This record gives sequence, structure tokens and C-alpha cells, in this order.
Amino acid sequence: MFQEIENKELFKQTQQFSLDYLESIFNRNVYPTEEALANLSKFDEELPLDSTDAKNIIEQLHTYGSPATTATLGGRYFGFVCGSSLPVGLAAKNIGTFWDQSPSMNVLSPISNKLESVVEKWFIELFNLPKNSSAGFVSGTSIANLSGLIAARYRILKNNNWDINQKGLMGAPKIRIVTGKQAHSTVLKAIGMLGLGHENIEWVEVDNQGRIIPELLPKLDSNTILILQAGNVNSGAFDDFNSICKKAKEANAWIHIDGAFGLWAGAVNELKHLTKGMENATSWAVDGHKTLNTPYDSGIILCADKEAMIAALQMSGSYIIESKERDSMFYTPEMSRRSRVIELWAILKYLGKEGIDEMVLTFHKRATLFAKEVSKIAGFYVENDVVFNQVIVRCDTDDLTERVLNKIQELRDCWLGGSVWHGKKVMRVSICSWATTEEDIHLAVASFQKALELESM
Ligand SMILES: *Cc1c(COP(=O)(O)O)cnc(C)c1O
Repeated sequence: MFQEIENKELFKQTQQFSLDYLESIFNRNVYPTEEALANLSKFDEELPLDSTDAKNIIEQLHTYGSPATTATLGGRYFGFVCGSSLPVGLAAKNIGTFWDQSPSMNVLSPISNKLESVVEKWFIELFNLPKNSSAGFVSGTSIANLSGLIAARYRILKNNNWDINQKGLMGAPKIRIVTGKQAHSTVLKAIGMLGLGHENIEWVEVDNQGRIIPELLPKLDSNTILILQAGNVNSGAFDDFNSICKKAKEANAWIHIDGAFGLWAGAVNELKHLTKGMENATSWAVDGHKTLNTPYDSGIILCADKEAMIAALQMSGSYIIESKERDSMFYTPEMSRRSRVIELWAILKYLGKEGIDEMVLTFHKRATLFAKEVSKIAGFYVENDVVFNQVIVRCDTDDLTERVLNKIQELRDCWLGGSVWHGKKVMRVSICSWATTEEDIHLAVASFQKALELESM
């Protein structure tokens, strides 16, 4: 095995494969071909008894793995809300891969903890958050939502003289949960995992864009967790933080914002009206790997109540060495994890404030262009106000929408998924790749048109 490190052939070959991949992926079929999918059967093997040559392993990944990837890195993948990865992020992640650091304790990785402290400050500034806010670097917004709600649960019970870590939830004072009917499924997942129970949720009615109707909020109090949303996963709409947060803060409720992709609007001059008032919340969950275009995986939990966060995620042991600097494991559920801050730091530094502003605003412009162009074609209807990067499109009937969507996916010029919006089947277009050009938008619209023509014959 030392030979592999010494002669470096394995790594050189891997690098070549990676560069070949990068060269092809921006112009390739966006979804794997039937042949590539069929070839996945090459991986149906028993665990071998003997060692396999490392070179063959990497070749197998390149030959049969690469073609079965989706081109999320490119400019015409519009499925879910994915985001590409900026080249500098891939490069920084590559260096980080070789460092193979665990940031849990400062003593275990000084560089990781240094970068985390720096990026924490940058985030506070970018989003104009309270000065003493903390940041935890997690795998994505699923865990960021979970972490924010862990801190909220700790704080509310602590204020009721109940230490959740010691006493648990059984017999604990009641925590109220208030959220909109369009809360993201990962919020519900977190509520379930935390033992707070979906049945305890006080649901608030939403408007036609999926925003909480502020007048319909129940009376909030200091035992309430209010969960809001920056960026509805279908429409991209934002709850009205300006009118909701101040009131909720006065009532001493814990306000958590799920801002997986939408929180970034707050860093853009022309779009920050969408997040106005968000600084009055208590915790914010946001992704790096969506709007910011970091490689997977990257999510951040930001919390104004640092004390609650650290107390809720406390751990100790005779072998643990705490430092005077940051020890990252007190800010996330995990102890060991990869040092994902490396590429996050690299991308923030690469873009700078103006670069972030420009990139995110361009997503909005491309989404607006897409909506404009697709609505020119008879038979397509845009169903949402395109306030950010999401466009919802439908055809005349559910059946036609479904067939057209399947046809677009089959054509592989772009890729997007479907959803249900106000009881109707729809297609969801999410524009969040730095690589998406105006030409990509025109190609995608052409694919929509072709699919509609084929399905209307
Ligand atoms: C994507 C998304 C999540 C989940 O984030 P992951 O990074 O996939 O864990 C949560 N909320 C919203 C609104 C999202 O778009």
C-alpha cells in the first residue's frame, strides 16, 4: 500500500479521470443514458474474498460509475434544488480530502477550527445576524434544522427549570410548535426525531404562494417554537419575516428559519427585501451546497442563542481535550465528521460579497427569463410569482403535464422533477447553478416545446 503512495500512479490516474469527467459533464446528457443505467449491474458483486487491485477499482468507478451520475454540476439540471459546485470548491475539497481532518476538537485539527471561526464571522456579517451568533457546520439543512430545534427545545425547557439532557422529554413541560402548512418535510422529520410529535404542530394557513398568512398566526408565547421559511421548495416564496418576527420576538417565542436555499437572498442587494426582518429570528438553517454552489455536503446552523446551542450539544469524556479556541463538536450533533468548512471558506473567499451578490442575482434573472420564455409557448402556464429561483409550470391537464414532464426527462437535454401545487400536477424548475447560461435557458425552453409537441400529437 505504501507503494501506491510512493509512485502516485493511482492518484495521477484518478486525477486524469476527474479532469475527463469535468470536461464532459457540462455538455453531456443531463441524465444517465439507458445503457449507463443498465451497466450499473456491474456493481452487483459479492464482497470479494481477496484484495482487488486499487487501479481496477478506480477504473471501475470511472468506466461504469461516472456515466451513471446526473449532471448536477452542469447548467441544465433543474431538479429539486441542487446547486452546482464552483471549480474552486472542488479544488479545495480535493486538498481537504488529502488532509482527511476531523474538526471535532481544536487539538485534532487546528486548521479546521480556525476556518470555522473565520467563516462563522463572515456569515454573521453577510446575513447581518446578532454579533454573538454561532455557526455549526453540518451535512445540510436537514441536520441544520434538527440542530436549531435541538437548541430551541433545550432553551424552552431550561426556562421552565427542566434540563432536557438530564430529565428527557417524558413528563416535561409542553413545547408548542407553530409552522406553516407548507413547511419543508425535513422540518417535520426533525420534529419527529426530536420526540415533539407531528400531532402537536399548530398549523398555520398559507396563501397562494405558500407563505404563512401573518394574521392567522395563533397567539405566541415563550414556550413556542415558531418555524418559518425562506424559500418555499416549490414556489421559492418567503414568509413575511418583517411582520412576523418582531411580534414573535416580543412574545419571547423561539423563531427558527428554514432558509436552505432562500436565506442567500439576504446577501443580495436587489433581493434582500425578501428576507427583511430575518435578523430578529433565533436560529437559521442554510445550505452551502444549494445556492452557494459548494460541493456536497454542506449545511450551516446559525444560532443567536449560542449558550443554548452549546449546552444542548454538550458532551465530555476523560480523553477529550477542550481548547480555549473553538471545539467544533459542541456546535453540531456529531463528534467526528469531515472538514467541510474547507471548501465553504474557499468559495466565500473566491466570490467575495460582490461575487455572491452577482451569482445569486443571476439565478433570479435566469429563472425570470425561463418563466418569460416558457409562458410564450401556448399550452404552458407559470403558476408562481418568480421572486427567487423557482419556477412552477403546468400544462392544460394533469395527464398532459405528467406526460410532458416524462418526455422532457427522456430527452435528457435538461432534467427537472414534478410536484403538486394547489392540487394540480406541476413541473418544478430550480435555477441554482453558476454554470447556467442564457443559452441553457433557451435550450431548456426548446426541450419543453419539443416535449409538448410530441405529446400533443
Ligand atoms: C433542501 C431543503 C431542505 C433540506 O436540506 P438538505 O441540505 O437537503 O438536507 C430543507 N428545507 C428546504 C426549504 C429545502 O429546500
